[in-house]
Amino acid sequence: MSIFSDVEEAQPIEVFHLVKVFNEDKDPSKVNLTIGAYRTDEGKPYYIPVVKEAESVVLDGTLNHEYLPILGLESFTKAASQLLLGDITQRQEEGTIFGVQSISGSGALRVGAEFLVKHLKCTTFYYSIPTWENHHLIFMTSGFQDAKTYRYWNEETRSLDFDGFCEDLSNAPENAVIILHGCAHNPTGLDPTEDQWKKIAEIIKEHKLIPFFDNAYQGFASGDLEKDAWSVRYFLSQGFEFLCSQSFAKNYGLYNERAGNLTFVLNSVEDVKAVKSQVTMIVRGMYSNPPNHGARTVSTILNNNLFKNEWINTLKLMTDRIKVMRKSLRENLENLGTTGTWNHITDQTGMFSYTGLSASHVEYLRNKYHIYMLRSGRINICGLNTNNIKYVAEAIADTLL
Ligand code: PMP
Repeated sequence: MSIFSDVEEAQPIEVFHLVKVFNEDKDPSKVNLTIGAYRTDEGKPYYIPVVKEAESVVLDGTLNHEYLPILGLESFTKAASQLLLGDITQRQEEGTIFGVQSISGSGALRVGAEFLVKHLKCTTFYYSIPTWENHHLIFMTSGFQDAKTYRYWNEETRSLDFDGFCEDLSNAPENAVIILHGCAHNPTGLDPTEDQWKKIAEIIKEHKLIPFFDNAYQGFASGDLEKDAWSVRYFLSQGFEFLCSQSFAKNYGLYNERAGNLTFVLNSVEDVKAVKSQVTMIVRGMYSNPPNHGARTVSTILNNNLFKNEWINTLKLMTDRIKVMRKSLRENLENLGTTGTWNHITDQTGMFSYTGLSASHVEYLRNKYHIYMLRSGRINICGLNTNNIKYVAEAIADTLL
């Protein structure tokens, strides 16, 4: 007899479960295309050189382990919000744009969602079908009552279902929160065009919806930080009030340091004090105080032009490698005469590709070839390299015979 006897076991988190199974797999040809982490062409995690350099600055003699302010390290949140929104110093000075340091992107979404429930009385949120699987859990845990979806991926054409997307947004009730991927949509790798973003903004404005951008991959879509921020900056230019989460897990390779930022964009100076005080209460009641290391490392880079330029060049190298792998996978599949069309592999952007492989294909690939990917057919392109790409393409070709 135990007080815990009635606890029901939850489903394992697919992506972490697969990583565990992959690590236990003894087959020498195994390939991990699951978790969203960058890998070098040698298949190794990448400790970005400028991050290492910045860390040695962070770890100089002045470091201590005092608490940071509840809303985080200001040199970090300011620079992070600027990275996202461009020249906003005036808005930052008046306070209508401010950042809250968060436990990476997930934590930013969590704090933002709880704020929307508690203080804007939001009950309904919308997410794309498909989306990153954690959106649903984070928003429901934050107190949202109604999880709704908007169409995004057209299975048949393997492209964006823009009409469906617009129709679903147009039917959303006032004050519904719309989760939008700022760039490099996870898992489909499909982003709206600039004209499509304009239309989305129009519908959101007309129906009085609340945009919540999720920006986990700035720099990882095009390799250009400015270009990848276009959608969010467009909403800013149109006078929207919105929230935006940022993760520095991928673009700095700081996955486990949990460096993130939640930007608030408000229209009225009068609201700033109250909003900040209530976010402070949410953080205080959730984890009290943010961690130092990742935020200080990112801040050191963003506030030093030499470091920043080095980081930008590295981002470009990483995204170039992803693009080469996309091209090569497509070429290999086409040269093998693999059933189906493969242009979507190079049409998509960012770290992921939504291959169109079914759950049974995925299972076959794992059992026969020890190639691991998500049940949805999503692959992390970074898991591909010059040594395994032919093997993966041949395995897919065989699976689709
Ligand atoms: N949003 C999306 C769409 C993501 O893919 C991720 C990472 N997988 C995140 C947010 C947040 O990740 P993290 O908490 O590691 O920053």
